[in-house]
Amino acid sequence: MRVWSIEGNRQRLDGGAMFGNAPRAMWAQWIAPDERNRVELACRAMLVDDLAGKRVLFEAGIGAFFEPKLKTRYGVMESRHVLLDSLEACGMPHERIDVVVLSHLHFDHAGGLLSAYEEGRPTELLFPNARYVVSRRAWERALNPHPRDRASFIPELNRLLAGSGRLELVDAEHVPGLGDAVRLSYTDGHTPGLALAEIGGDGGVVFCSDLIPGRPWVHLPVTMGYDRYPEQLIDEKRRFLEDRTARGVRLFFTHDLDCALATPVRDERGRFGVTDELRSVEALLI
Ligand SMILES: [Zn+2]
Repeated sequence: MRVWSIEGNRQRLDGGAMFGNAPRAMWAQWIAPDERNRVELACRAMLVDDLAGKRVLFEAGIGAFFEPKLKTRYGVMESRHVLLDSLEACGMPHERIDVVVLSHLHFDHAGGLLSAYEEGRPTELLFPNARYVVSRRAWERALNPHPRDRASFIPELNRLLAGSGRLELVDAEHVPGLGDAVRLSYTDGHTPGLALAEIGGDGGVVFCSDLIPGRPWVHLPVTMGYDRYPEQLIDEKRRFLEDRTARGVRLFFTHDLDCALATPVRDERGRFGVTDELRSVEALLI
């Protein structure tokens, strides 16, 4: 298998919201805020080819579907659909993708499935030849959100996915058709049924999604304001990192602007960190 990091549209979000209860004096050292207290984030996807003979995209980033007012509200930086251009650049236009695996349906992870905003034109579902693999509980949450996270979902996307005939809901370790090369585990601290996809087993790569959005969140106490149960997330993150550190599984970050992949380590005090940080990944063999 070969792995690529695929950059999508970037976002500028309120730094306080991204770092939960961490004081500004701390998080401002991890990611420098702009004059409006916002931090710049990636919405990066992971492409794997020859995964059980399939071309598989893990997540689709935020995309460019927002109309101008919402695009400004959510700090989406580019108007074009960056993910599509990035896929083209590595010879993999979206029509060639066989499977898209979505950890959950928050718009900054699934919005890239939609075509870029054009005034007067209806939104379309991209990846016309792909199966869309979604965690069953994440799908149920998207259909029945809580008032606290309702704004994070895209009702139109749910409708298009349901009508595509290519939506596949999963709640097991393995994805039908992808063999043993992908193993899913599920956590609930960020959102119910967040699916974490690991490829390649020991020494492989795991897509950390919003369990660990980037390097600053590797440290156990650091959570996001968007997490529904921060204490539960920390417990899940501890187990996740203990396991991946022991098995030499590298961490793939979706929201870390300057780091796509890193190896988890633990120091003598038991504190988790990363080493061997890579800004991008191109045809990495695993
Ligand atoms: Zn999320």
